[in-house]
Amino acid sequence: MALTYTSTRSRMSVTASQAVLQGLSRDGGLFVPTEIPAIDVSLDDLARMSYQEVAYEVMKLFLTDYTEEELKACIAGAYDSKFDTGEIAPVVKKDGVYYLELYHGATIAFKDMALSILPHLMTTAAKKNNIAGKIVILTATSGDTGKAAMAGFADVPGTEIIVFYPKDGVSNIQKLQMVTQAGDNTHVVAIHGNFDDAQSAVKKMFNDKALNEKIGAHGYQFSSANSINIGRLVPQVVYYVYAYTRLVRAGEIKSGDLINITVPTGNFGNILAAYYAKLMGLPVNKLICASNENKVLYDFFETGDYNKKRPFILTSSPSMDILISSNLERLIYRAAGEDPDRCAAFMKDLTEKGEYVITDDMRAKLTDFRGGFATEEENFAGIRKLYLNTGYVIDTHTGVANYVYRKYAEETGDTTPTIIASTASPYKFAPAVLGAIAPDEKEGKSDFEMIDLLSSKAGTEEPRAITTIRTAPVRHKREADVDAMQAEVLDILGIRE
Ligand SMILES: *Cc1c(COP(=O)(O)O)cnc(C)c1O
Repeated sequence: MALTYTSTRSRMSVTASQAVLQGLSRDGGLFVPTEIPAIDVSLDDLARMSYQEVAYEVMKLFLTDYTEEELKACIAGAYDSKFDTGEIAPVVKKDGVYYLELYHGATIAFKDMALSILPHLMTTAAKKNNIAGKIVILTATSGDTGKAAMAGFADVPGTEIIVFYPKDGVSNIQKLQMVTQAGDNTHVVAIHGNFDDAQSAVKKMFNDKALNEKIGAHGYQFSSANSINIGRLVPQVVYYVYAYTRLVRAGEIKSGDLINITVPTGNFGNILAAYYAKLMGLPVNKLICASNENKVLYDFFETGDYNKKRPFILTSSPSMDILISSNLERLIYRAAGEDPDRCAAFMKDLTEKGEYVITDDMRAKLTDFRGGFATEEENFAGIRKLYLNTGYVIDTHTGVANYVYRKYAEETGDTTPTIIASTASPYKFAPAVLGAIAPDEKEGKSDFEMIDLLSSKAGTEEPRAITTIRTAPVRHKREADVDAMQAEVLDILGIRE
């Protein structure tokens, strides 16, 4: 049966491949499936499958206009030796909690889980829909998406990719990863502004009719690799199903037992995927949404008031420094009874007033979620404690979830087995991580000396992604004001005003 997609802001209908191609709906809304399909294989059967096989069983239910052959080819092309373990997403138990390591891909952050397959899904979709022109991927990044998207799209025929990142809002390692990116079709621009500025400007370009016509006349069409693309959300559902079934396989739980899932959250994409997994029938109790000091989501789950009018705080978990969590719109749409007019009204309030307040009946539909946040000090203390107890080192994003979950368990006495989404390798944020586990020893060290120190502390080898950037030449030097982002795009594409 074909599953169609509609927009969160108007009544319409597109196929899965069309939704993947477009990224964002033309009305500014996000594509959502008209229903969430149920898992149609038993959890015990899934427990016997490989990552690739589980991926197929989950994704085939959402991407119904892809043939079995097409989808299997996309999966095989994505989850291969780019990952440094055949398990793709290993689950490890430390101090009674399961860490789902989502950082074994090319750029050592969880964005690889979806961005290694998105280019395959998109180029397949282009063929299916007879798109002749070039796809231009526009991406705003808080640090990890941009690199992962470029790694996925580099030298993919028929595509150009342009990445905007906040010049002063990413770690040195993240910056180095981006400016050394290879590939003739990759373009990187440092923005004088924060992530929200970059994301808003990119959204505006997607919705700018004149701009779209102008690039269209030159054979180009915009698409998005941001987590608003349904082609990113669907592959993210996979690893929650996979993680659950690994616990079954290891005898840690019996199939049917409930688990909690805790996710360090920014744009609300990763945790929304966990929610979709629950709606598909995965036995999930609570979804714990962990924020850093930019705790707009915590406040929202506590009060029903989403309010972005607050200072933007730069933290040591930069990929979560976000005040407009775009994917929350999909949850709002659902809570609003799948009424696009109601959803659009909330989003209008957010744009115009910087705030919206949902109704009590909507709040009653969000009880699967629980918010929490960690200050910088709490995050560091949690990372240190876990390291001292177990020798296991987690990064500063995972650290936020780690602190939030352990506090939740203490306060509620909830003993449900819990998975924490571990979203980045500690090597990606070595200076901050060392600040937590060895603050005295890191003094005066360069980034790469700190990586060596981390390697000796953690007893693990540095990942390939780090080794590569030690020597790679800088290829990207563009910088721009937020107002000049559109001009930058036209310049990159060789289109004169
Ligand atoms: C992107 C990112 C997050 C936040 O994920 P969302 O899907 O935006 O909520 C958390 N941790 C890391 C390391 C990330 O790269």
